[in-house]
Amino acid sequence: MHRLIAGYRQFRRTYYPENRDMFDQLAQRQAPKTMVICCCDSRIDPALIFNARPGEMFTLRNVANLVPPFSPDGSHHSTSAAIEFAVCALAVEHIVIMGHGRCGGVKALLGSYEGEFIGPWMRIAEPARAPALAKAGDADADELQRICELEVLRISLANLSQFSWVRQKVETGRLTLHACYFDIERGALSVLDPGSNEFVALD
Ligand SMILES: [Zn+2]
Repeated sequence: MHRLIAGYRQFRRTYYPENRDMFDQLAQRQAPKTMVICCCDSRIDPALIFNARPGEMFTLRNVANLVPPFSPDGSHHSTSAAIEFAVCALAVEHIVIMGHGRCGGVKALLGSYEGEFIGPWMRIAEPARAPALAKAGDADADELQRICELEVLRISLANLSQFSWVRQKVETGRLTLHACYFDIERGALSVLDPGSNEFVALD
């Protein structure tokens, strides 16, 4: 906690006074154009990767950047609630699902880790496992995991596009869906090309 308090004091000494006008504006309202859905992993920071300021991105983090199927059944759907707020209340124009390398959630999916909550949660991504194994062939464990991380992104994107109000906005051109993948070792981003359904590295 000492580390966090020292960081806060630094924020109060420098970033906050230097950006006081921005915080005054943000106190009135938020109007982000983009929602980002990414993993909880401590090594992934979408604001840093996209060089974004506070107020620019409505960010949702969960284990393995999953979007569950659309299932309005009265249960506690934290992820779906955040997506609903971004799309229906904030009217974001883009939703970016960002996966990443070395994802612990995907590792759990490929392994035997269950846990009280992670096992059931990761079952959302279960449809990614068979195609990943088929594509990986006799590749090593690291490559299988990378292929599975990309498959999980395709599953999340497909689930997202099935939300009724997401689909309506996409069909009328008011919302665009994206998936991208951050390679931690190389600090490099790949983006899913909708034409080929393959991830293409950005320059
Ligand atoms: Zn992760």
